[in-house]
Amino acid sequence: MQNYDIILKNGRILDGCGNPWFWGDLAIQAGRIVESGPAGTLQGKRLIDVDGRYIAPGFIDIHTHSDVSILINRRAESAVHQGATTHIVGNCGMSPAPVNEEHLAEMRSYWSPLSDQPEVTWEWRSFGEYLAALEVEGLGINLGSLAGHAALRIATIGLEERDPNVRELDQMQALLADAMEAGAFGLSTGLVYPPGCYARTEEIIALAKVVARYHGLYASHIRGERETILQAVVEAIRIGEEAGVPVQVSHNAPKFGAPFDANANLRLIEEARLRGQDVTVDNDVHTDLGPGLIGGLPQEIQDKPIEEIRRLLQDPDTRQQIREEIVADQKPAFGPVGLLKHAQWQRITILHAPHSLEAVGKTVAGMAAERGREPFDVYFDLIIENGEAAEAIFDYIDEANIRILLRHPAVMICSDGEVLAPYGVLNDPPPYSPCSYGEFPGVLERYVRDQPVLTLQEAIRKMTSFPAQRFGLTERGVLRPGAWADVVVFDLERLHDRATNLYPHTYPFENYPHQYPDGIDYVLVNGELVIERGEHTGALPGRVLRHRT
Ligand SMILES: [Zn+2]
Repeated sequence: MQNYDIILKNGRILDGCGNPWFWGDLAIQAGRIVESGPAGTLQGKRLIDVDGRYIAPGFIDIHTHSDVSILINRRAESAVHQGATTHIVGNCGMSPAPVNEEHLAEMRSYWSPLSDQPEVTWEWRSFGEYLAALEVEGLGINLGSLAGHAALRIATIGLEERDPNVRELDQMQALLADAMEAGAFGLSTGLVYPPGCYARTEEIIALAKVVARYHGLYASHIRGERETILQAVVEAIRIGEEAGVPVQVSHNAPKFGAPFDANANLRLIEEARLRGQDVTVDNDVHTDLGPGLIGGLPQEIQDKPIEEIRRLLQDPDTRQQIREEIVADQKPAFGPVGLLKHAQWQRITILHAPHSLEAVGKTVAGMAAERGREPFDVYFDLIIENGEAAEAIFDYIDEANIRILLRHPAVMICSDGEVLAPYGVLNDPPPYSPCSYGEFPGVLERYVRDQPVLTLQEAIRKMTSFPAQRFGLTERGVLRPGAWADVVVFDLERLHDRATNLYPHTYPFENYPHQYPDGIDYVLVNGELVIERGEHTGALPGRVLRHRT
């Protein structure tokens, strides 16, 4: 009988392909899964009796923003504690490479405040050098990256609001080709954020054609997820069709202000697929986001120094103009602004306001009643009083849409979060990012166990083999002999997400500051234990994943 490195013994094995579990043992040798057999039949140097818990492939999170935070927390603590063993970064148009000397300042300001941490050396310039910088000191999880369209633009024309000329577009294409050669999985865009929003569709098609040469994919935070969501989905599909690349529509829940529910965007995806176009979707299951209140202001105001913002908001005429501009929403701003535009003040709950402590935990609607002021005025006053420190929870997604998306077979599960840890600079002050800690356990707890929307095996498929297939990770996302041993062991009964706060909120917030979930007991990455009995082992067996063309 074989004596393997590790045996996970007596578990309910979910293979990741959507099949129901079976009782068994799983054998791991030299980083890979080598055998599965009936429970109690396999032998190894290290036996871990998981006592009926579930054994599944480690979760593959294809939409994250861990690009820079992973350099600060190489153990990838919030990720691995929730069972994620792979992150894809470079999403929403932004990757920290390529970058050049001339535009390094713009790039650093994008990733501020983490940019200034000593671990973030900015010694890389090319995409390949960034991947090498990730590799050199090891990682707690595997990491792959897309090339961000905004990075290509910044490296070429900075933050200018204009089209690139022919020579500049050539340069962007060359930078992208270089990134693809170095292992980028494709191109991402963020078409509601500067400078991505300055790009016309034709510019993106020209770049996506480079991706097509390398058989990569096009992932997009589309050009508006509210009023313009359907046009934006159509644009993403058109880019894929004209460039000949698969399309991944990122975090595709309609945000407040969208005229239809998620079935409308999914119908467009289905039609494209019927025509033979490879289009899929991902989504996270949180209804909220916790940005600064300044994020609700028009872009050109946001970018000003805080003292000037205060002055503008104190002047009655400019205050009125800003208000009208927000409601007019001519340059579609990012999702949460829909709550201001549509006067959903009861969906904006104050999280931080160090100089207006009485407001914390209350909604803008509640504060307006208390202060006898209009909600818009309260919103602006909180910015004047607290500056950049004013933050709120914006509940800008209807949970019904999350359920619609979860049920659809072409939708996979992502977090849209980043690697965090509940201590140190990544927690000072604690960011509001429930998805970074509780995405996968939250899906299993709420949408599989407590109020079932998905079967367990279907939820696991959407977290494992489906995203693996999307990114060509053929040796991950399944528990089959030959696959890399990225594995999570969890107890579905005990599983509890301690980061998500359901709307309407109670104060003190139940799960903020966020904590690691309960019930994720063992996590292996490339055959090494990174979580053992719920504790991080300190191991850094993760690999940098490179797209093979
Ligand atoms: Zn995004």
